[in-house]
Amino acid sequence: MLPFKLVYHPGYDLNLGEHVFPSRKYRLIHDHLLDEGFADPMDFVEPQAARDEDILRVHQPGWIQRLKTGTLTNLEILRLEIPYSKQMVEAFLLATGGTILAARNAFRDRVGFNIGGGFHHAFPGHGEGFCAIHDVAVAIRALQHEGRIERALVVDCDVHHGNGTAAIFAGDRSVLTLSMHQFDNYPAEKPPSVIDVHLRDGVSDAEYLDRLRGALKVAMSFGPNIIFYIAGADPYEDDQLGGLSLTMEGLKHRDRIVFETGLGTSVPVAVTVAGGYARNTDDTVAIHCNTARAAREALVPESKQ
Ligand SMILES: [Zn+2]
Repeated sequence: MLPFKLVYHPGYDLNLGEHVFPSRKYRLIHDHLLDEGFADPMDFVEPQAARDEDILRVHQPGWIQRLKTGTLTNLEILRLEIPYSKQMVEAFLLATGGTILAARNAFRDRVGFNIGGGFHHAFPGHGEGFCAIHDVAVAIRALQHEGRIERALVVDCDVHHGNGTAAIFAGDRSVLTLSMHQFDNYPAEKPPSVIDVHLRDGVSDAEYLDRLRGALKVAMSFGPNIIFYIAGADPYEDDQLGGLSLTMEGLKHRDRIVFETGLGTSVPVAVTVAGGYARNTDDTVAIHCNTARAAREALVPESKQ
């Protein structure tokens, strides 16, 4: 039995077919963790779809209504860069419910893990870059509403800048946004996070981990009550949409640093998986599975695993 729950729902699959975004990866991660004996069926919990009440703390009602009723404009669908379907909308609602559940679990288990979510390019009134609903922002607002937290830290290690996160929390002193990304990549316009670590093309493990440690040190002085870790797999050297050069080992090391930073100071960590577009989808799945492994290693001494 794992010391934390894996939040997952078969409906996470956005049903995109042949698309650079391998939306079947959520099921593959689930299956892989089971097949290799890392997890057993009891370790998984299914979320419910996020409620309007939660979503509307972040998003504009018109956007959510058009999304749910299939009345988005062509331009809105183009910006999303994924085909519209009812199943796609349901997947975003489930993933958002999953991030809320993972965040609540983090207070009980020290780590909460959503095998989904991390849709950091969603804005209050529009979606873009494969992201329609900002699950992490919705979860932060839910926790604040419940009175569980005052301050949240978002550690975004996806290779792409967290533009939606930065825009949603601009000027909000209760949320510190940290984005570590390849500068010369999507999105072209990068509204400032509180801490932006702009990386040049081709950065490899040592420099990346060094910059991450430095940024985390500054960010932790904010005194967050929870860390939301957006653990994108796309800084990987063989990613089709990323231009950094991290190895699989380097990425796992990255995960360890984030978990140890949180747990070492008794700050719970809620994980979302975010992007990952390796030429070989097995690599993307392996990187995400390693994040779960890193969480267990940080929670349980090696001798007891
Ligand atoms: Zn990404």
